[in-house]
Amino acid sequence: MNNIELKDKQYLWHPFTQMKDWTENKQVIIAAANGTKLIDTEGNEYYDGVSSLWVNIHGHRKAELNQAIIDQLDKIAHSTMLGLINIPATELAEQLVKITPPGLEKVFYSDDGSTAVEVALKMAFQYWQFKGQPNKQKFIALNQAYHGDTVGTVSVGGIDLFHRVFKPLLFAPIHIPSPSCYHCQLADNNETCGMTCLEPLEQVLTTHHTEIAGLIIEPLVQAAAGMLMSPPGYLKKVRLLTEKYNVLLIADEVATGFGRTGKMFACEHEAVSPDLMALSKGITGGYLPLAATLTTNEIYNTFLGEYTDKRTFYHGHSYTGNQLACAVALANLKVFRDEKVIEGLASKIETINTKLEKIKTLNYVGNVRHRGMIVGIELMKDKQTKKPFPWSDATGAKVCLHARKYGLMIRPVGDVVIFMPPLSSTTGELTEMLEILYKSIQEVTETPACCSGLAAISAISV
Ligand SMILES: *Cc1c(COP(=O)(O)O)cnc(C)c1O
Repeated sequence: MNNIELKDKQYLWHPFTQMKDWTENKQVIIAAANGTKLIDTEGNEYYDGVSSLWVNIHGHRKAELNQAIIDQLDKIAHSTMLGLINIPATELAEQLVKITPPGLEKVFYSDDGSTAVEVALKMAFQYWQFKGQPNKQKFIALNQAYHGDTVGTVSVGGIDLFHRVFKPLLFAPIHIPSPSCYHCQLADNNETCGMTCLEPLEQVLTTHHTEIAGLIIEPLVQAAAGMLMSPPGYLKKVRLLTEKYNVLLIADEVATGFGRTGKMFACEHEAVSPDLMALSKGITGGYLPLAATLTTNEIYNTFLGEYTDKRTFYHGHSYTGNQLACAVALANLKVFRDEKVIEGLASKIETINTKLEKIKTLNYVGNVRHRGMIVGIELMKDKQTKKPFPWSDATGAKVCLHARKYGLMIRPVGDVVIFMPPLSSTTGELTEMLEILYKSIQEVTETPACCSGLAAISAISV
């Protein structure tokens, strides 16, 4: 075994990973990358089909992003934002306010998606304390939601497998149905139901709005749930209901932000301005950890007062507003402008669409969900009756491991195969990636013997 692999197995504990399987099987060591491809220590190349877990935007080793970090290093890597201004954090805040939906005027930095959401929850909670409505303490969250792994964000999560064990530690939100039509158990006909899934929300708001601080939602796409997508108009209706009942709307755009859905932010598709918005993942183009929580002047102003009033937002992190991370985030946004990245997505999305039409016809593909540059392909043992494969088969994980043999690196969520390539992928690269995906799904589901040698299955399945 390679020396690095030995040390990894001796010293490291990987995220969302069964380490028993991990240590017993051969693993891939990434040594370098180039554009859309990752390169391992044996020289094998793989398409980065999930953008290094949904973060990479313009490909790896993007010259402008590399240069931004080098230039910033010549000035300063980090100084604290407690009591001091820094230049890249300030300039980035101005730009974030300009590109996010109207009404979001202030930026609070942290380090990752979980902390960005945690900050939003705390701001929403404290806002009502200051507004003289201290009973507004509860949050509404969607079933199947994923907002991060800290105790606060797990509290508003709804993925049983990840969250159940921590229940005694958590505060309890009010859960409403996930708006995913494919899995809907509320209505017989999604075309004509008029979004039955909104009725429980309106009921909760009618009876409990005086106790509810906010509603948190992943707009359009519940990503970690397996790319569950809401029907058109759902988000807009949720916004109208929260306004009607005086409940804050928190949009968690950690996964959907920065072009993934085909527009800069998912909220734009339905002209929604939330009261708070959490951003991370793509914010630095996939280079460095950084997150931002944006909010309105209404919320910000409520925290203003004399020092002795103790209305301060008592929250912060050691690396808040880190200059290196903000510098590369600024370069990321500049590439979006200079290369007209959003405008260039239409033809790529069309290519994905065409290739997915073929994938849909596969015998064990139950549902294909697609929004912009986000795809979830749900495998089913029986397409007609929507009978899943046994969980213990880890079919989704097998497909992903098999795809590596053809040079595509992807990761499943259960039996949903996720495809979320860098926005910079060319139509030619997208075509090749989706052809590998087709072949991998077909071979694993139709001729299981082909992949009997696959190792470490449970190490990559959740
Ligand atoms: C990834 C993700 C998070 C958590 O972000 P981390 O950086 O992993 O803490 C929160 N919300 C959504 C929607 C995500 O996809």
